Amino acid sequence: AHLDRIEAVDAKVHAYLHVDADGALAAARAVDDARARGDRLGPLAGVPLALKDVFTTKGVPTTCGSRMLEGWRPPYDATVTRRLKDAGVVILGKTNMDEFAMGSSTENSAYGPTGNPWDTTKVPGGSGGGSAAAIASFQAPLAIGTDTGGSIRQPAALTGTVGVKPTYGGVSRYGLVAFSSSLDQGGPCARTVLDAALLHEAIAGHDPLDSTSIDAPVPNVVEAARSGSVRGLRVGVVKEFAGEGYQAGVLARFAEAVELLRELGAEIVEISCPNFTYAMPAYYLIAPSEASSNLARFDAMRYGLRVGDDGEHSAEEVMSLTREAGFGAEVKRRIMLGTYALSSGYYDAYYGQAQKVRTLITRDFEAAFGQVDVLVSPTTPTTAFPIGERADDPMAMYLADLCTIPSNLAGNAAMSLPCGLADEDGLPVGLQIIAPAMADDRLYRVGAAVE
Ligand code: GLN
Repeated sequence: AHLDRIEAVDAKVHAYLHVDADGALAAARAVDDARARGDRLGPLAGVPLALKDVFTTKGVPTTCGSRMLEGWRPPYDATVTRRLKDAGVVILGKTNMDEFAMGSSTENSAYGPTGNPWDTTKVPGGSGGGSAAAIASFQAPLAIGTDTGGSIRQPAALTGTVGVKPTYGGVSRYGLVAFSSSLDQGGPCARTVLDAALLHEAIAGHDPLDSTSIDAPVPNVVEAARSGSVRGLRVGVVKEFAGEGYQAGVLARFAEAVELLRELGAEIVEISCPNFTYAMPAYYLIAPSEASSNLARFDAMRYGLRVGDDGEHSAEEVMSLTREAGFGAEVKRRIMLGTYALSSGYYDAYYGQAQKVRTLITRDFEAAFGQVDVLVSPTTPTTAFPIGERADDPMAMYLADLCTIPSNLAGNAAMSLPCGLADEDGLPVGLQIIAPAMADDRLYRVGAAVE
């Protein structure tokens, strides 16, 4: 049924870069056979899923939305891919994304943009716009995204779906093509909080193949999603995430969500996190710095594209020609920014300063979580914007992640879930819930209470 749905609507939405119909049908049949044998099956056995094209899939194309990896079929599965297969999940295909996960609109994909299913002239958010659009247009009930600065939560907000960035280290990064290794985190996308919890449980947990993977029990997110209560919980409203630049309809729906939390028995406290104002500039030094180093592996020798290998060019020229042809404008911008920020003489002034700001943001969270159990805010300052509107204005594009970036810098857990439609455009608004590291279950408890 989902393959038929993809056939019917994806020409319009363009959520998928690659549909693996044969692989999906084989996986579905394997679950049927297991059921016929009387095997014990997990809750997600036979459930279809759309996988962001940044996770390696053995023998199935993995492009990261880049020309650089066009036609590359990885020889191994990411740990997330492996765990999905082990759970009996049916992987339908790979979803569109901003190139190497750099962007907030999916317009930076080398394979063309994805449309927002609510209005295909609008962006679905990014970088995981394909995953969010796939579930919003009923082309999959579940999807996987990655969140470096907001790429799971911001697309969830813009498409009226649920997206979770787990605690950093909660989900293995093995086989997740690296953008910014100290920020990248895979996580679940779904249409309900309980669906997201079931997917979270399937992919989370310690992995010896990822040195930053947390070796501790996974918080019981499924039980939390089933309980869904906020009575007696202290909920902090982040003072800095409101005001100028925020759409009126977003603020109105957010205010109603806070009111609902109060009615359900939560204690509402206003919390100031003064250093959050500097999160965006710090992120745009740290993420490009790490990216400039991570993307050095695309050297025309090991993977994908190779340009100019004709006996006329030196190895260095082949590298240079390949990187010129293989990377898009935003990726090049970040490589240059990161290389500059890390260069000797500037390192302390830029990268070093940004790391200090990162510490101050982590301290703001620590102080906040000394007073409250969770924090809430709008997920994004605005609803979905028109395709093309911010394409030539990186600063305007970067603002889409204003509210999501602090949690990546500090490594704690956060969720976005729908909280109604904005009056002025009828488009979805996202409510962000933020919890301390390793308290991912609180997101699900609060999310299930208000959804
Ligand atoms: N939009 C942010 C960026 O462009 C975040 C991307 C992400 O989370 N992968 O870097």
